[in-house]
Amino acid sequence: MTSRSKDRLDSTLRSIDGKSYGAYKQIAGGYDFGDHILNIDYVQGDPFASPSRLRAAFPPEIVRLPAELLDHEVRRLAAADLLNRRLHRELRSASRDRGSGKSGTIRILRPGQCILERTSLQIDETGRTVARFTAGLPAAGRRILGRQAVEMLLSDIPRALRSVLAPATGELEVLRRHALLAEDSAALRSQLDEHGLVAFVPHDAILPRRSGVDDRPLAASQAVTFEPPDGLTLTLEAPNRGPVTGMGIPRGITLIVGGGYHGKSTLLRAIESGIYDHIEGDGRELAVTVPGAVKIRAEDGRSVASVDISNFITDLPRGEDTAHFSTPNASGSTSQAAAIAEALEVGATCLLIDEDTSATNFMIRDARMQALVQDEDEPITPFIDRARQLYNELGVSTVIVVGGAGDYFDVADTVIGMRRYLPADLTAGAKEIASRFRTERTHEGGPWSPLRQRVADPASINAQKGRRPVSIKVQTSTRVLFGVEELELGALEQLVEEAQVRAIAQAMVHGAGRWLDGRRTVREALEGLMEEIRHEGLDAIDARQPGDYAQFRVHELAAALGRLRTLRVHPPAGTT
Ligand code: ADP
Ligand code: MG
Repeated sequence: MTSRSKDRLDSTLRSIDGKSYGAYKQIAGGYDFGDHILNIDYVQGDPFASPSRLRAAFPPEIVRLPAELLDHEVRRLAAADLLNRRLHRELRSASRDRGSGKSGTIRILRPGQCILERTSLQIDETGRTVARFTAGLPAAGRRILGRQAVEMLLSDIPRALRSVLAPATGELEVLRRHALLAEDSAALRSQLDEHGLVAFVPHDAILPRRSGVDDRPLAASQAVTFEPPDGLTLTLEAPNRGPVTGMGIPRGITLIVGGGYHGKSTLLRAIESGIYDHIEGDGRELAVTVPGAVKIRAEDGRSVASVDISNFITDLPRGEDTAHFSTPNASGSTSQAAAIAEALEVGATCLLIDEDTSATNFMIRDARMQALVQDEDEPITPFIDRARQLYNELGVSTVIVVGGAGDYFDVADTVIGMRRYLPADLTAGAKEIASRFRTERTHEGGPWSPLRQRVADPASINAQKGRRPVSIKVQTSTRVLFGVEELELGALEQLVEEAQVRAIAQAMVHGAGRWLDGRRTVREALEGLMEEIRHEGLDAIDARQPGDYAQFRVHELAAALGRLRTLRVHPPAGTT
């Protein structure tokens, strides 16, 4: 595509000054700024509508990123993440009120505590760097403010872009550190398997967060720094910083026990977050978890579309078929069983469970309750009777916070006790107690039966609204209006950025028909889709290529699909 000179943009903007807003449409297209090309991809219809979409491409000889950052994908993604952070700062300070509605506001995705791939800033193997952001084109009412537009588009925005990207090496040392940290973190995560671990938390980590709504670390003066306990301490080797000592959580069944308010849930949340690499200063740098670890919680009220929960729940009072269980309004226990089945469907290797957010009757049924309520009157086989099978037969580990149910000692491989925010290895003590105080409970449930495969009906994944074939509106950081359907994802606690929620909703649209084709199983379809994204990048899910998507896992994609209230599924052809 040919680009006009930036002077053309200047003269056009001056010539439409004072005209009605629609005249802005003619500025769409590419402009040559000498050291970069600015593309105006989409022009908004009025100053109150979603702002216009812009894209600036800087060639390698301007950005001048060193080869050591470009040659490894992890480093390149981390460099993009850091440039995104810097650009967010610069564009925010270039953003100002320049008239009505969104006039003059400039926005790029704001990264959180994790290093993620995002469509807002991309670097390719050659070092070509593209930033995507939005800008509200200035107007007073519906009258174009051409001179303000000139100042914003030809002066303030290019200055902000150049201060970060031309060249990007201004603070090269910081960029390098960020990239090498991401590489170390990814390397430790990939070593977990060979050490038989599902998670690793390094010495001196700071796990608590500032608040329930602020993911930044608690101030160092208030936080107890992490110390690995005797018995679970080991040293891994990071490629850049060398040996890192910390606590390894082995495969199998691990309990996190301890008194209330002693840091159990905080440790579990750090493990949940270990699927991502964290920025320097987060406190959870190098705290890593296997990529297939999935947080499971109860979520009463959610919808469930023909999920096989029969390993946990059978013989419901109204005779529902729990091998194909559907409901618009799940209970605590059925929602938790469905969450596990859905996670296993797309290959979860480790379940993370906190008693704080679990249904008690799903987790445990003690000896006295077994004696009072006959087995045939209790539809639930509690998790305590399945945890062992999940590990022995499917290789799926569990890390579970229990403060109240000592019956779990019987099935645990490892017991970590949290006391005043510090862990101790209590495995031997718990085993000794388990043999001294027998629980007298009877093991429930028969053999584990393999989960039924499901095929999604693509017509049931529909984001149409009125005349718009696709309408996706992110309403809060966890809720999307998908067509006319509300999709609530607050229970997916491992999502960390709103841009992931937006990308997942768009991926469902992209996947419907193409991957979710009515023949492939849900697992095959979603894996195919994720493979496409791995090859083509996140832009594969949306031809418009907006700058507000962030990378996500197949687990969250599957979980989101499962919560879509319109979803219909059926068994694969030739099965029942
Ligand atoms: P539990 O699950 O055992 O009841 P939490 O993990 O919820 O406890 O922690 C209780 C409180 O202690 C929270 O406010 C949390 O932020 C804080 N906290 C957790 N770990 C630490 C720590 N290492 N240092 C300081 N405060 C912590
Ligand atoms: Mg807790």
